[in-house]
Amino acid sequence: MGLMTKDQYIESLRKLNPVVYMFGERITDVVDNPRLRAGIEATGATYEVAEMDEYRDLAITTSPLINEPVNRFTLPPGSIDDLVHRVKLNRAIANHVGTCHQRCTGLDCLSALSIVTYDVDQKHGTSYNQNFTEFLKYMQKNDLTANAGVTDLKGDRSKGPTQQADDEMYLKIVERRSDGIVVSGAKVHQTGSLSSHEIIVLPTRAMRKGDEDYAVAFAVPADAEGLIHVVGRSSLDGRELEGVDCGNVRYSKNCPTLIFDNVFVPNDRIFLCGETEFAVDMVIKFSSFHRQSHGGCKAGKIDCMIGAALTLMDYNGTSKVGHHKQKVIDMIHRAETLYGCCLASSYEGKKQASGSYFIDTILSNASKIHEGKELSESIRLMIDIVGGFVADMPSDKDFEHPEIGPKLKRYFKAVEGVPVENRIKMFRLVEKMAMESADTISDIHGGGSPEAHRVTILRESDLESKKRSALRLAGIEG
Ligand SMILES: Cc1cc2nc3c(=O)[nH]c(=O)nc-3n(C[C@H](O)[C@H](O)[C@H](O)COP(=O)(O)OP(=O)(O)OC[C@H]3O[C@@H](n4cnc5c(N)ncnc54)[C@H](O)[C@@H]3O)c2cc1C
Repeated sequence: MGLMTKDQYIESLRKLNPVVYMFGERITDVVDNPRLRAGIEATGATYEVAEMDEYRDLAITTSPLINEPVNRFTLPPGSIDDLVHRVKLNRAIANHVGTCHQRCTGLDCLSALSIVTYDVDQKHGTSYNQNFTEFLKYMQKNDLTANAGVTDLKGDRSKGPTQQADDEMYLKIVERRSDGIVVSGAKVHQTGSLSSHEIIVLPTRAMRKGDEDYAVAFAVPADAEGLIHVVGRSSLDGRELEGVDCGNVRYSKNCPTLIFDNVFVPNDRIFLCGETEFAVDMVIKFSSFHRQSHGGCKAGKIDCMIGAALTLMDYNGTSKVGHHKQKVIDMIHRAETLYGCCLASSYEGKKQASGSYFIDTILSNASKIHEGKELSESIRLMIDIVGGFVADMPSDKDFEHPEIGPKLKRYFKAVEGVPVENRIKMFRLVEKMAMESADTISDIHGGGSPEAHRVTILRESDLESKKRSALRLAGIEG
């Protein structure tokens, strides 16, 4: 098949027949549902930019596995250059869509699996890496999108998988057959599951002896039998369904809950099955890659926020106001620090036994902590600059109303010569970037809770060498 255009990607999704529920109703026209389509368009942008002169070199590379051009979102990193390109591409696409394009999660799974399946095979003599390699060829040859089925519901957080009152609080192998396994449970916050052809499942936490049925990784098509997507509510979703006041008129994001009701996984799609000690490796590799992806992406989102703030400064008549310029600087340095941290985590990456490259975990986790705090701060700065209409601007329906519309348009004017419609549109975009829960909550929890980032930093840091430096300087030890 080879590389897909954006239109071919959208047509390819039409061939899938996933079971989908949204707001209590079964949805059969996924691709043409306005709420879901806005998310599909965002993933479609990863195909679109690959066709654009401006981005082609960043987005397209040659896969050594199939020796053909591939989109970078199907290429586990085989060099430092690949790691760096991931960050740059995520920033470029975020600039293009102003939200989450959703395709990084699948790449982060592929990248983690390219390392860990090899290590499991070395220890256990299994053939997961072979399974993975065949799956990867399929993904690359067909230019497919996958999502990351990582987060389990987890039930009572003080208990492990086998201690829960309900044994499916973590996705579980419920049957082992000669031709594969059957799994049940659920994965939540599934960014882009309906923009994806494939769902890649990884464990969500470290597993211990006794957790064998939960230490499982595999891939199934997004419309596999028994798989049910339940689209979650997000703060501005009603706007997309109504078709008004969307803010970002092109793109959006949704994160369904995915129920696995006795889903069959054939043997050749299994990447981990009971080797509990490797669950933690999969989690660390995936989440560290994902935190690096986030940083590139969210630096790009801050770029869009800076653009909106600057434009509204022009429209509002504050473009020369000193404290606004200072606040723009404060937004820029936050974006660049985030970006710099992710680039650094790439440049400090190391080759793994499988031949794939892995980023520096401390730097990628540091970037995610920075993102969690500083994206919120950047949103606060943007809102400070643009003013209170982010909260309560009348609807487009009011602006178009024959009686009240002309009055509103008169009073909502600001700088002479700026069409009032443009000012209204830009306020709406700011509202979307600041208030869309599917985006802003992922700045904090996406890729793991903030504490998970901190724990990883502590575990991965060489604390002894830091102590040795201090002891030497204090003259306590040589
Ligand atoms: C918008 C969005 C998009 C996402 N996209 C994806 C996706 O595409 N794929 C995917 O798999 N996941 C996705 N996630 C899930 C994300 O990784 C999780 O939200 C995150 O790991 C936190 O898990 P949780 O939401 O269950 O919160 P919890 O794990 O319940 O955490 C809540 C709080 O409790 C603390 N806590 C929980 N358990 C313990 C414990 N045992 N000890 C000490 N403290 C504890 C946490 O540190 C945190 O402070 C997404 C999340 C969001 C919000």
